[in-house]
Amino acid sequence: MKLLEEKIRAEGKAVNEHILKVDSFINHQVDAFFMMQIGEAFAGHFRDKGITKVVTIESSGIAPAVMTALALNVPLIILKKQSSKILNDDLYQTAVTSFTKGCEYELTMSKHFISKEDHVLIIDDFLANGEAATGAIRLLRLANATVAGVGILIEKSFQPGRDKLIEQGVEVFSLARIKRLGKNLIEFLPADSKMTEPRN
Ligand code: 5GP
Repeated sequence: MKLLEEKIRAEGKAVNEHILKVDSFINHQVDAFFMMQIGEAFAGHFRDKGITKVVTIESSGIAPAVMTALALNVPLIILKKQSSKILNDDLYQTAVTSFTKGCEYELTMSKHFISKEDHVLIIDDFLANGEAATGAIRLLRLANATVAGVGILIEKSFQPGRDKLIEQGVEVFSLARIKRLGKNLIEFLPADSKMTEPRN
């Protein structure tokens, strides 16, 4: 998605060779109009795939995910990050390692909101090692739901997340793919095809 690449070039900051900061438009200050365009781009790709729900991981996936759910006219489920296991029959939980913080958390989903009838689109802001998305897939599969795909705003293609998800039989659709990060350097790969560019 050209617009996203332009925005990353203009406002993104490589903290080091591994981490990109985008807090001026995605995860601290949110550019709401831009998020609406992101939602339309994901909806354009996944519209005919029978999606019943969108799932994201709190908190930085929420803005793009809510716009995607709106564009597809389906509910959004926000998976919660708990610091420890909760003994509760109403919840599914799975341990995930955080890419940015290095620590482990329990990804948590209520049994009330997802069932075997659901065909789910997972949306997240970044794809790095694929831990968060894999955790979400594990929870959805525990609920016997099916996964339609994973929609990512910024895939860091030099990290193993994409391959990890594809190995699990899940489609990955990334709006921007970064080949390399460095001081004053953000190099892109061609983004995933069959893209519907949003209207300006
Ligand atoms: P993964 O689970 O794929 O290793 O990492 C994905 C999660 O870590 C995303 O939900 C995102 O919040 C965070 N993350 C990974 N890489 C970056 C990055 O370069 N910048 C920021 N801001 N967050 C990242």
